[in-house]
Amino acid sequence: MRYIVTAQSGLNIRTGPGTNYDKTGGYSYGAVVAVEATRNGWGQTDRGWVSMDYLRPVEAADEGLVTDTGLRIIQDILPSGAKNRPGGSNPDTYITIHETGNFAKGADAAAHAAYLRGSSAQAAPVSWHYTVDDHSIYQHLPDDERAYHAGDGGSGPGNASSIGIEICVDAGGNFEQAKANAAALVRLLMARHGIQLDHVVQHNRWTGKDCPKTIRATAGAWEAFLALCGGQGSQGSDPELEAAVDALAGAEIINSPARWKALDYTANTVRLLLIKMGKYVQGD
Ligand SMILES: [Zn+2]
Repeated sequence: MRYIVTAQSGLNIRTGPGTNYDKTGGYSYGAVVAVEATRNGWGQTDRGWVSMDYLRPVEAADEGLVTDTGLRIIQDILPSGAKNRPGGSNPDTYITIHETGNFAKGADAAAHAAYLRGSSAQAAPVSWHYTVDDHSIYQHLPDDERAYHAGDGGSGPGNASSIGIEICVDAGGNFEQAKANAAALVRLLMARHGIQLDHVVQHNRWTGKDCPKTIRATAGAWEAFLALCGGQGSQGSDPELEAAVDALAGAEIINSPARWKALDYTANTVRLLLIKMGKYVQGD
């Protein structure tokens, strides 16, 4: 069964069902996890044990809010009437990619969500639809409304016909992971609105601004980002591994196939997999 992490500060993963067991990692707020077994209020996932107190079941209302990499979009919609929520229709013809340009430590997606609710963002006014960092995605405005992110006026094509995504560049954050999370969001939005890859554009396209700055400053980085949006991993594809993962997922030996394909697992995950495969071979 699938659950969503409700602990704002994240959820510890432990080697056993209790706080006396060692921590081996954590899940981010909003992450979707598959629980395979439960014991005394603890749930076992493919990475270890977590407290069920900080999980809630995935509901129908969550459908469409989870990326193909298992990250849930946290809804933090600005109140109607906010000066930086102009309303007006948006046909979602384009997706515009920005970088926050805020290199301060802690300037993550949650911090930008708080910024958009504050007086300076409303006074500017400035707004966009989504902020993505290395562990979360926040949505600030409905896709079908306009926003003030492209700098091309209230009815310019950037503000009035595109969905604005800000990628965080905060110090200490993993920018490669943030871009991968943004690409997963782009894939979801492309599918939802029928947007083609050639309509995923830089902020630069609308006004000539040097944004997304880091990506623009790095040779090949934009092309690599678009390749990620098209579903190609930056590590290069590994069809042999992917076929094996798909076969194991089909036999219900593993959950979270995307994580296995991304080589994102711990020694304990492999241990659990070996136990499962042993039982499978024995016919249990
Ligand atoms: Zn920008």
